[in-house]
Formats: sequence, structure tokens, C-alpha cells
Amino acid sequence: MNRHVPPHVAAAEAREADGLGCTDVTPIKQRGQHEVFCGLTSIIWLHRKVQDAFFLIVGSRTCAHLMQSAAGVMIFAEPRFGTAIIDDRDLSGMADMNEELDKVVARLIARRPDIRMLVLVGSCPSEVIKLDLGRAAMKLNERFAPDLRVLSYSGSGIETTFTQGEDNFLQAVIGGTPRAAPDAPRQLLIAGCLADVIEDQFTRIFHGLGIENVHFLPARHAEGVPPIGPNTTVLMAQPYLTETAKMLEKKGARVLTAPFPLGEEGTTAWLRAAADAFDVPADRFAAITDAGRERARKAVSLYRDRLAGKRVFFFPDSQMEPSLARFLSREVDAEILEVGTPYLNKNHMAPDLALLPSSVRLAEGQDVDKQIDRVRADDPDLIICGMGLGNPFEAEGRTTKWSIEFAFTPIQGYEQAGDLAELFARPLGRRDLLQVEV
Ligand code: SF4
Repeated sequence: MNRHVPPHVAAAEAREADGLGCTDVTPIKQRGQHEVFCGLTSIIWLHRKVQDAFFLIVGSRTCAHLMQSAAGVMIFAEPRFGTAIIDDRDLSGMADMNEELDKVVARLIARRPDIRMLVLVGSCPSEVIKLDLGRAAMKLNERFAPDLRVLSYSGSGIETTFTQGEDNFLQAVIGGTPRAAPDAPRQLLIAGCLADVIEDQFTRIFHGLGIENVHFLPARHAEGVPPIGPNTTVLMAQPYLTETAKMLEKKGARVLTAPFPLGEEGTTAWLRAAADAFDVPADRFAAITDAGRERARKAVSLYRDRLAGKRVFFFPDSQMEPSLARFLSREVDAEILEVGTPYLNKNHMAPDLALLPSSVRLAEGQDVDKQIDRVRADDPDLIICGMGLGNPFEAEGRTTKWSIEFAFTPIQGYEQAGDLAELFARPLGRRDLLQVEV
């Protein structure tokens, strides 16, 4: 009897057979118009994470409006980010701008002595680009150290997409971190911003595995990042930290590659990479992870009916797309049509790409018009895209999910695997309800 094989299952079987998945697929390289938030946006999660830091955006009113409307928290209590607005009068001379920045910082520090890390964040206006924020940070450091550490990085939309803001911030953080002594004890450094609750879950798992010396980058406090050197094994928690990883390697750290910790499979493979590096025995690994794996599988299974066989198209946005697509393909049997990503680091993404079907179209960079044409030709069941594209697609009767929600929602680890599946299932459920009501 002939077996009926749905296309997504056939693709998965082909992937199993060749063992390489998407690894050797040549991505479509695009250099057209981008539809992605700038690197300032990452401040929305970074300012919550580093509790004694203040992010001072040196920018225009546009930057201030973006941050206020995107974060929506400026009206509450004492915020931990703000904008030093560069006005027209500042155009008259750089000396004025440096003085102006000094005054803003002095006022801020006098009013907020609890701040331990001040982060100057550059933006796109040409007046700001001309300002040497690195030098400004150095001079402020001379003035305020050791009570206050001043860093700088660029979140400009010309240079960065929104997750690259975090990559730049972390480079600034570790740039000033001392080198570990040759006899420093071995340590595991988890690189990439995670919600506190997820950090706590992972910490408990690592301790259960016998890996006691665990640190997170960024740390919750300015002083929380340990000296880094050959004693440091790095496990990347986010896929968009290419430059941070390079800098950690330059400091002598060993950076592991693994699928990113999304879903049961991704989380297990990610934890196993650390366990292998620290020689954790297989039975101990199973004893610590089996219950979490089971809970994650059960939670995800609640959404499988809604997601299995659904044809999904990812626009480039956060660089998390290959890992998200791998989760959808492997754990709920969705069919992935295209995976767009602003930048594709084939080394970091290799374990995730190997688990994707070779039928997936990979696209690096963006040419939004061409991608819209491909969406219309593919007619997917679900489109993962930026806010600017979501509403027009919905108006065409298509179902969309805002990709930025995957960056803002805690989705890593076993306990969040069900929430991750639910994020994809929700718009499909909404569409079904609307169709019933019509
Ligand atoms: Fe706009 Fe540039 Fe400011 Fe971002 S940094 S809000 S892209 S002006």
C-alpha cells in the first residue's frame, strides 16, 4: 500500500536521511530595504536586566519617541533609561554638545546616586555620529570612577538591527572586564540576556549537574561579570551575539556551539553541550533533565494539533529565526517555507540549521519587496514579521505574528516551551475564531 506522506513529514525524513538539514543550503543574500527596529530597542530588555545601570540615549526626539512608545514605562517612578536630546542649537558646535552631555550626566548622577553603570548609547542623527561617545565615556569615567562605570556603544539604526544593540552593549561590558588569573577556577558563562526567572531555572539545573561556578552576561548588577580568560567556557543563550563571542574568544574563553535553548529538544541539546564540556556523566544528566523534558513535551503537545502541517514564513528580524523555525519544524511538525534572518552566522547557527529540513529557503539580509512577493506566491498559513508588515498582511486576509514578541517574551528553557508554542498558535486560533464568527 502506498503511504501518504505530507510534505513536511517528507522533508523531515529527507533531513534525517542526509543528516545535514539546512547546513549546506545557500541563503538568498539580500541588500534591499530593511523593515527592522534599530539597536536602541534592545534597551527595553537590557534596562530591566541590569538593575543598577542607566541607559542614556544620545539622540533626537525621534529616538525619545521610539523608546517611550515602544517601552511604555516612562511615566512610572524612576525610569532607568532616558534620552539626552540633541537640539538644533547643538548643531552650532561640538564643544557645546560635549558640555551639554557633561551637564546632563552630572545632573543625572546627582539625582540618582544609586546608578553604578552609565551607558551612553549613540544613535543615527549626523550630529551624534560626529560626537565621539567613546571618548566622552572615557572622560566621564576619569571623573566618576570608581563609584560609577561609564560605557558607550552604538544603537544607531544605520549600523544595527534591534538585537545587535545587545551585541554592542555586551562588547562594551566585557571590553572593560579584567582577564582571569591563570589559576582561576573553571567557570561557565551564559552569554545573552535571559529573563531573571529563566536564569534562576537554568542556575538550578547547572547546579544539579554539578556545575557550580555559573555566571550570566549581562549580569544583574554592574559588578556581576567575572574576569574572563581560558578558565571560561561560554554557552551562548542568544543567537545574535556574533561580535560578543569573538571578543570572548579573544580573551581566551572557549565558546560552545549548540542549538539555542528553545523547546524541549533545543534546551536539552544546549544543556548537554555544557554538560559534555564539564564531563557530566550521562546518568546524572538524565536524572536532572528528564522531568523538565517531560513537562516541556507535554506543554508543547497541547498546541500540536493547531500547528502541525501549518506552512510558516519568517521575515528577517531578530536573528532568532532559524532556532524558532527549528522548534516549529521538529517539535510541532510545522512546515517551514522560508527563514529570513538579518545576518546569518553559519557557525553559531550550524546546530540549528542541521535540524531544519533541506527544503527550507534561507534568506540573509532583507529586500522587503521581494520577500512580500514570495509570501504572496507561497500563501503561507502563518507569517512571522515586523509590526510594519503585520497590519497590511492581515488586511490581505493573512495570519501574522509580530516577531518582536519572541524577543520580549521569556521563551527559553523547559518551563517556557509551552508558552513558545502558544505564541505561534495564538494568531491561528484567533483566525479560526474570526472565521467562525463571520
Ligand atoms: Fe530612529 Fe536612528 Fe533614533 Fe533609532 S537611532 S530611533 S533609527 S533616529
